[in-house]
This record gives sequence, C-alpha cells and structure tokens, in this order.
Amino acid sequence: MTMNKLDENLLETMRIPQSLLYNGYGLNTVQCRKAMKEGGFKYSYGVSQCIQCGHTIRTISWNCIHCSPSSIKYESRYREGGYVYIGSSEFLGLIKIGSCKNIKNRINSLRDQKYAGADDWKIIKSMHFTKNSGEIENKILQSLKEYSIEISYKKDGRLQRARELLNCPPAHAFDELNKHILATKRRSL
Ligand SMILES: [Zn+2]
Repeated sequence: MTMNKLDENLLETMRIPQSLLYNGYGLNTVQCRKAMKEGGFKYSYGVSQCIQCGHTIRTISWNCIHCSPSSIKYESRYREGGYVYIGSSEFLGLIKIGSCKNIKNRINSLRDQKYAGADDWKIIKSMHFTKNSGEIENKILQSLKEYSIEISYKKDGRLQRARELLNCPPAHAFDELNKHILATKRRSL
C-alpha cells in the first residue's frame, strides 16, 4: 500500500512535514512502530487503513491521525520549537532540508538508515527555533520547490521514497534559512 489520495489530502491540510513521516509499506504494525521509534518519526503510512475514514497515516501509538484526538493537537506540534537543518551528501551531490528535536540523533539515523541511499550525510547548517520549526521546514521546501527531486531507494529490501531532497547549491538553502532566522530575530526585538 502506498500513500493514498486521502492521505495526500490530509497531509496538505495538516501541513505535516515529510521528515516526520515514515513509509511503513510491507511492514507489520510492530515492525513499523519499532522503525518509527528508532528513526524518530512521528507518523507512518502505508501499513493499515483506518476502518472509519480510510486514511493510513498513524501515530506512534497507532491512532489514525484523522480520527484520533491527537490530530487536533497536531497544529501545536507543527508550532513547536526544534532544529531546522540543511544536510548534504557528497555522494549524491544533493542537499536535504529537515526539522527535528535532536540534531545529533537525526544525523546518526540518516547515516545508519542510508537515507536516499547515502551514508555520508552531514549537517552543513542548523538553527534552533523556539517555535514553528515544522512550518519553517515546509516554507523552505516550498520556496525551493523548483529544485526538489524525489529519489527511490532500497532500504532493508523495501522501496522507500526520499522527498525532501534538493538539487541546488547549498547557498540557496542557506539564504532561505537565513530569511527565517532574521524574521525570528526581528519578531523578538
Ligand atoms: Zn480514521
């Protein structure tokens, strides 16, 4: 099961950043939750459909994000603080944008999981925001949309899709991140 149309629409409405989503296709519930925990993913899709609404996006406690009360809390998660980072892989010649709570864990998991098929990921810039880190990640990806590329890669014999990759000079991403850093500073003055 891949992401269905319902899921895609819900992602748009809830503005969930791709970096929080794990593709659980081919796994069972237990395996998927384990992988989510290890990789620091908040949500997964593609394992089982909710009987009530047909979505496949689940929280780590395996609630349907559409039907469970936690979905109402999602907005606050999106507004929470955290790191927004720019990662780079020389092997791929690509960069990625992401957000996370713990930058060290994230870089380790990108390497361990060979994200997008590369194990040489490094963080070339990161910034901690006291709020809105999920929104900032999405905004940066949105403004660099023309450079976005999607890569399919095999992980544990299963096909995964990496969707936060950009084929552009890092300077472009630095500029976008800096805009948000400056805007945050201005707001706090
Ligand atoms: Zn549901």
